[in-house]
Amino acid sequence: MQIRYNSFNSFLKRKFPGYKVRKIPINAGFSCPNKNGDISDEGCIFCDRYGSGPIKTFTQSIRQQIEMFTSANKGKKFIAYYQAHSNTYASPEELEEKYNIIFEYNNIVGLFIGTRPDSIEVDVYPVLEKISRKTYLSVELGLQSIHEKSLDLLNRNHSYEVFLETFEKLRSSGIDVIVHLIIGIPGETKKDMQKTIQEMNRIKPAGVKFHLLHVLKDTKLFDMYKNGEIKLMEKKEYIKAIVDLIGELDKDIVVHRLTGDRDIEIFHAPEWALDSKRVISAIQKKMDDLNLNQGQKSRIASNS
Ligand code: SF4
Repeated sequence: MQIRYNSFNSFLKRKFPGYKVRKIPINAGFSCPNKNGDISDEGCIFCDRYGSGPIKTFTQSIRQQIEMFTSANKGKKFIAYYQAHSNTYASPEELEEKYNIIFEYNNIVGLFIGTRPDSIEVDVYPVLEKISRKTYLSVELGLQSIHEKSLDLLNRNHSYEVFLETFEKLRSSGIDVIVHLIIGIPGETKKDMQKTIQEMNRIKPAGVKFHLLHVLKDTKLFDMYKNGEIKLMEKKEYIKAIVDLIGELDKDIVVHRLTGDRDIEIFHAPEWALDSKRVISAIQKKMDDLNLNQGQKSRIASNS
């Protein structure tokens, strides 16, 4: 089947020709200001206690995690993804020490750092710039939506404006930014989601990650779902929405993810999302049926 979108796999082939690269999730032991009381002690309504990071390796050191993944996949190259919680939320010294661990492994060819838009202090940028001179570095910023009503509902506790400031600072430091977006936020209309995509076309991040809004156990979202306060997207509805949005997304923006999934131990709903391979192939089939490629209907925010 023809891949009709600018996929992460095709990006990896272009960026690292000649060898296979695998991205490995790491819990680097950071916290999150939206959880530990600095900003809020409640966290985002969808966030699990592992801060979206790996569960099985939760108690292991960074080195143990890297060695576990790399020894099971000998001969391959890797990108370390510091994923759990906010991976720029510490002193520059601690950050540099933890980022530098990847240079002990010559089969690691890049570092991706996941964080909140309001958690990169001024003195952290020189650290990021230093790392980016030594390896391929991307920062993954959780945004979820450009709409303030959605950011409020999700209890993000940062504005779109703050995201934009951080985005521009990273870009002027020469660092690729990947933006995380959630599809299916309660109260968001098709037009709201399209506006988020049109805004991405305007600011042009290096990549986006689409996550389906899904419910994990022991989250505020779990309670809201149980109480009937929110409704989740049906599979057909999600596939239609995501296909439309990809059709509108600038073709140069790499799509790092097409859906969201999580370990079965903490996953609650919707059940269909657990089979992410099937969801991805349904998206590809729908794009084929419609003869639609990424960016075919692309518009930017100012034209809307
Ligand atoms: S910012 Fe990230 S780690 Fe922090 S509460 Fe929200 S989703 Fe969880």
